[in-house]
Amino acid sequence: MSEFSSKVYEAIHSPLMADGIDTLQVNIGRHCNQRCLHCHVDAGPDKKTEFMSRETMGMVLKVLAENEIHTLDITGGAPELHPGLGYLLEGAASLGKKAILRSNLSALLLPGNERLIGLLVKNRVEIIASLPCYLEKNVDSQRGAGVYKLSIQALKLLNDRGYGKEGSGLALHLVYNPAGAVLPGRQDALESDYKRELQGRHGIVFNKLLAITNMPIGRFKETLLKGGNYESYAAILKKNFNKETIPELMCRKMLSISWDGRIFDCDFNQMLELTVNHGAASLLSGFDLEVLKKREIMVGDHCFGCAAGRGSSCGGEIRSGLVF
Ligand code: SF4
Ligand code: SF4
Repeated sequence: MSEFSSKVYEAIHSPLMADGIDTLQVNIGRHCNQRCLHCHVDAGPDKKTEFMSRETMGMVLKVLAENEIHTLDITGGAPELHPGLGYLLEGAASLGKKAILRSNLSALLLPGNERLIGLLVKNRVEIIASLPCYLEKNVDSQRGAGVYKLSIQALKLLNDRGYGKEGSGLALHLVYNPAGAVLPGRQDALESDYKRELQGRHGIVFNKLLAITNMPIGRFKETLLKGGNYESYAAILKKNFNKETIPELMCRKMLSISWDGRIFDCDFNQMLELTVNHGAASLLSGFDLEVLKKREIMVGDHCFGCAAGRGSSCGGEIRSGLVF
């Protein structure tokens, strides 16, 4: 039993169990125009072979059509680099499902993506975009030279199309993650800083800021190991374990699908090749909502990354307002 499993058992006297499924998060490939230091996916410009096929996208849409799962959350890599993204977005819209696109912003500016932005607007796709700081040097040191300027350009373009503006119905949320081996600060305070600075410096508006803890796996783990910080960061996450985050851990309400159609409890487990287990079928072709929505979740010590401090999920901080 992992240390995290023991902590959960101690806190709730049972293993971590799913509690329904409201979101299907689909990782459509690891190809990305950036190569960020904190990336848990190990994505990059060279990852061109792991692309979700049209057939697998069709299976995703079939699962959405046949089950009461209201949200399709699309991630990568940079999903904008996948030629089938429009097919998936249009398919979700035709089923009346909410769609979320996780964007690194710069990919929206790549040639050929003008049409994609029109599609996002037309289908009211929510955009969750990474911007780890409002300062250029911090963004460029984490995400690569020149990324900040491109991100700002993309945010202005999205604002021009109505994204992030009150009453437009076009949600634009930004994602903050710490630059190093520390827990994020308070989400509400960071949001105020971001709103003030982005408005003041560039006239940019957005809806919410989501503060996310860096997960010590993938390229971020390599970065930590190279800097000799892995052990100390893992210790920080364990030391700050907060049992109050357990009911809201995101894996309890979602599933993650890989480019090749396997089913995972979350994108982190996907990167660790930990498919759903304990009797649940791990392929989309065997999708069974009744079994999956009550499954026992595959946990490991990386899960301390979700349960430390105020907690962390793809929707940001879990327990807002707690002092840590
Ligand atoms: S963190 Fe996002 S933008 Fe950066 S390399 Fe990974 S997938 Fe690409
Ligand atoms: S890493 Fe995944 S399985 Fe573990 S707590 Fe976080 S969301 Fe759940």
